[in-house]
Amino acid sequence: MLNLLVANVFFPPAGPKTITIPYNRFVTEVKANDVSSINATGDSIEGVFKHLTGATDSSKDTALHFTTQVPSFAGGQLESLLTAHNVTINAQNPNPPTSALVEILYSFGPTLLFLVFFLWLMRRTTAAAGGGLFSLGRSQARLYDPEKPATTFADVAGIEEAKEELEEIVDFLRQPAKYQRLGGSIPKGVLLVGLPGTGKTLLARAVAGEAGVPFFSISASEFIEMVVGVGASRVRDLFSKAKAAAPAIIFVDELDAIGRSRSVGPSFGGHDEREQTLNQILTEMDGFDSREGVIVLAATNRADVLDAALLRPGRFDRRVMVQPPDRVGRAAILRIHTKGVPLAEDVDLNGLASQTPGLVGAELRNLVNEAALTAARKNRPAVTMVDFTESLQKVLLGAARRIVLSPEDRERTAYHEAGHALLGLLVPEADPVRRVSIIPRGRALGVTVQAPVDDRQNYPETYLRARIVGALGGRAAEQLIYGVVTTGAESDLQQVTMIARQMVVRWGMSPKVGPLNLAEDPEQQTVMVAQRPYSEATAQVIDSEVRRIVDECFARAVGLLEQNREKLVALTEALLREESLEEAAILQVTGLSPKPTPESFVPATPTTVPAPEPVGANPRVSIEVPPPG
Ligand code: ADP
Ligand code: MG
Ligand code: ZN
Repeated sequence: MLNLLVANVFFPPAGPKTITIPYNRFVTEVKANDVSSINATGDSIEGVFKHLTGATDSSKDTALHFTTQVPSFAGGQLESLLTAHNVTINAQNPNPPTSALVEILYSFGPTLLFLVFFLWLMRRTTAAAGGGLFSLGRSQARLYDPEKPATTFADVAGIEEAKEELEEIVDFLRQPAKYQRLGGSIPKGVLLVGLPGTGKTLLARAVAGEAGVPFFSISASEFIEMVVGVGASRVRDLFSKAKAAAPAIIFVDELDAIGRSRSVGPSFGGHDEREQTLNQILTEMDGFDSREGVIVLAATNRADVLDAALLRPGRFDRRVMVQPPDRVGRAAILRIHTKGVPLAEDVDLNGLASQTPGLVGAELRNLVNEAALTAARKNRPAVTMVDFTESLQKVLLGAARRIVLSPEDRERTAYHEAGHALLGLLVPEADPVRRVSIIPRGRALGVTVQAPVDDRQNYPETYLRARIVGALGGRAAEQLIYGVVTTGAESDLQQVTMIARQMVVRWGMSPKVGPLNLAEDPEQQTVMVAQRPYSEATAQVIDSEVRRIVDECFARAVGLLEQNREKLVALTEALLREESLEEAAILQVTGLSPKPTPESFVPATPTTVPAPEPVGANPRVSIEVPPPG
């Protein structure tokens, strides 16, 4: 608002003020000898009054210039009227004749355009290779001039785990001989998986920068628009160039663009090209040994849609998760991006980090940038905290597609996750709790990760019950603290129901049903009534047994949390403060001791709270948990 006012004062609108007047007023003005000249273009007239405002009009519209429209029915007397009152008449042809050249352009334009495009295509495809239209693949060779990125790990923060995992790659690239000698196997392909903006591309460049090796990068989405066959030969070319430059890094960005599972999605148009390119990547990856010194890094937002062939051993068999940063990480990222920015004394980057849960690196960089612009606009010598908080609104709006929790939701989530985690610690048979976090991630508001220690394939009933108790922990904690429950436990309840039901129908763990396997199809969770291999009476027994197991487990969950309420509160408070806690911190906060003996096996089972969905929406599980066994 203020800006606008100032602008108006300093920059009055350019050009003379012009008013639009009705035709009859125009005639009146002419008759009153008020008009000095007019300029007619077709039926519209621009004119100049002799002095400000026509004498015959009382309106406050004062201007020297006017325009008016001559109605088509106005007779031919206008000219004589104008001449009689000494008005200078200028006229312009409303449809100026087009020159011959323009005429030609109009008629041949499309053809010309096409010719130009064709020539451009020829040039594009023959450049560098010099082999004519048929050496399509080699044509883009100049794109593969490798870079030597100056990026290092110091430019990357908040994703320490990913950095650590890539350190081995850096070391290998630095001194391949060391590894070649021992014949150790270094992964050929490493897949960086994480939300957009978490720093995957940055990390890949940093690996090349740290190792000081050439960086060949392509974006898989480029291949989509290509003529069939080009993608594949470009891939071939890329790999041979990289091998020649070894040790080197090939970086394939947006791998999911071509690497989507071939069974997923419609097959149309560019599909063939996509598949050929993908196949060529697979062939190339099979055709070299990582000891040659080339490592393929690839980035994707989603690993779940990737073609299984890509993830097979010897291809992208190593995955590095690039997680959104926690509070400490966000502060570190803010520090990196404010390095060249003069900050006012009141700027508290740690405080800013606590206000930005859920934001990823790219958004934090954006935040710093916005704040710097805001400060510059206000002619401040340095960026102040106010600039940051103002810009935060903007950045948060941009991030709205993701979840940014209100303080109430955040607290509730913290209690929920603390409930899961605490029961994982308190129930002896449960898997040890590795991490608990309330950093929003994808559709999940929070996550508790429990991972077993060994690989046992057989689980006792006590373990399954412990799983149920733990899964109910979120809901139990919410009930204990708030007295009401929310939709947040949906996926927990799905898991609970699934395990309890299998205990009854599949593993004979209900004395009432007995040691029968009544599960028709182990894959199928629901049994069609018509195909049920048991009677209605049995069905009722099954239902009541499932219910009994779940009820018993829920009672145990609530009971345990009630007895350990102060631990629950302590863990929740720590979570609200730190956002994510590793095993050691969890034990320290709760004062509990680590699990004595490993009890069981099930793949790591994150227990998640899905984001709230409108009631009636299609229920979806954010992280699917495979049924045990
Ligand atoms: P992605 O490839 O995962 O979508 P990018 O690497 O393209 O993310 O991130 C874009 C920019 O955001 C980076 O160039 C960097 O400036 C900033 N950025 C993202 N993540 C981080 C991080 N972890 N540390 C520092 N800067 C980051
Ligand atoms: Mg990227
Ligand atoms: Zn939960």
